[in-house]
Amino acid sequence: MKYLSTRGDALPRGFSDILLEGLAPDGGLYLPTRYPRVDAATLARWRRLPYGDLAFELLSLYIDDIPPADLRRLCLQTYTEAVFGSAQITPLKPLSGVGEGLWLQALSNGPTLAFKDMAMQLLGRLFEYELARRGRTLNILGATSGDTGSAAEYAMRGKQGIRVFMLSPHGRMSPFQQAQMFSLQDANIHNLAIEGVFDDCQDIVKAISGDLAFKRRWHIGTVNSINWARLLAQVVYYFAGYFQATRSEDQVVSFAVPSGNFGNVCAGHVARMMGLPIRHLIVATNENDVLDEFFRSGRYRVRASAQTYQTSSPSMDISKASNFERFVFDLLGRDAARTAELFGDSLARQGGFELAPAEVARIAGFGFVSGRSTHADRLATIRLVHERCGTVIDPHTADGLKVALQQHEAGVPTIVLETALPAKFAATIREALGCEPALPAALHDLESLPRRFALLPADVTAVRHCIETQAS
Ligand SMILES: *Cc1c(COP(=O)(O)O)cnc(C)c1O
Repeated sequence: MKYLSTRGDALPRGFSDILLEGLAPDGGLYLPTRYPRVDAATLARWRRLPYGDLAFELLSLYIDDIPPADLRRLCLQTYTEAVFGSAQITPLKPLSGVGEGLWLQALSNGPTLAFKDMAMQLLGRLFEYELARRGRTLNILGATSGDTGSAAEYAMRGKQGIRVFMLSPHGRMSPFQQAQMFSLQDANIHNLAIEGVFDDCQDIVKAISGDLAFKRRWHIGTVNSINWARLLAQVVYYFAGYFQATRSEDQVVSFAVPSGNFGNVCAGHVARMMGLPIRHLIVATNENDVLDEFFRSGRYRVRASAQTYQTSSPSMDISKASNFERFVFDLLGRDAARTAELFGDSLARQGGFELAPAEVARIAGFGFVSGRSTHADRLATIRLVHERCGTVIDPHTADGLKVALQQHEAGVPTIVLETALPAKFAATIREALGCEPALPAALHDLESLPRRFALLPADVTAVRHCIETQAS
């Protein structure tokens, strides 16, 4: 399988070449040259597989430059009951108390209690494997306000040939997130608490990544959400969810997906393009409704930072959706010139674009529908599920369920993806239910563990120096 850029002028490349990269050289995103189709007989066979084997079967359709025995071992080592809390890895729970045919798919029982572990845990192993094969090392530089940074650190801790330098705004993460990251004692993990806000952290990362000589000298890389391997790893749980909600391959299901950067639901799009019987992909946004606006109108309007709201589902507080270009490329019949025009010129000149009516008309054929949810909706939905099912869901998952309830159709099971556990967002749970969310037993003493981090001024030179003295 070869990979091309959504903007056209990159040479087709192999999986392991694009694994360690972010954007394609022309500024586009990588996609496979085609989506392998999975027929009903293959689905019937996959239905019986444990999660790790299912991941291997699916990934091997996209990866032909890692020997199958190695790829299988990496998949089986990643998806274990010890790491993800159950043999099914992403078990389905019925939400029939709220609506007939509604399910919750648990994706958040990994080490950092958010769905990002599903992909990041595999990415850590793939990176370690590929770097060893190439005799290379990598220094991962990133900025985080919470979920992504911790998922990256827990995936890369102790991995050979990899160091992580993660910038976070000092004192501005939730106490739980801070404890989760700063309690890591692994020598290859460097938490840099910056005296500033998240934008300061991101500016520093941009300045350092923009210095090509420094970047090359110190083998600087990233693990952002546009990485194709991350997206591919997420395709697997759509299949796993489908198999649990159905008995045979002639049944269809819908998925409701709390969305920010469009990474999670884009994996659902790939699953559907492969032939998984998905009726609707229900995109749920919070008050930052860039995506809902697009799916309703064909108008994509990037928000300025003043119009990007801080909400109680903070991991969906985005101004633009970095993975969205992949879907638009497919929507436009893989017209790279048109995609380049929309995401290059139009975005730069007018902060967005509007599709032609004939292009908008194609959206329905890809199964996408959407809706938005507000703070009041989140609280009401958390209360509803607690009352009717005795289950506590997190604020992001509540956005997904709120929109799922609007779009749910009789006779078609709807699977809501649980993107985080409520323990990560205790303040909103207290506001909704007046009680504390349960904390997994293994994390009871998290906030009292010793912490390891460096406090630095919001200054590029200070961070650069820190990398120079500790990088491998
Ligand atoms: C990252 C994240 C999301 C958004 O996922 P995207 O792939 O960016 O659409 C939703 N919920 C939680 C809890 C997250 O951490």
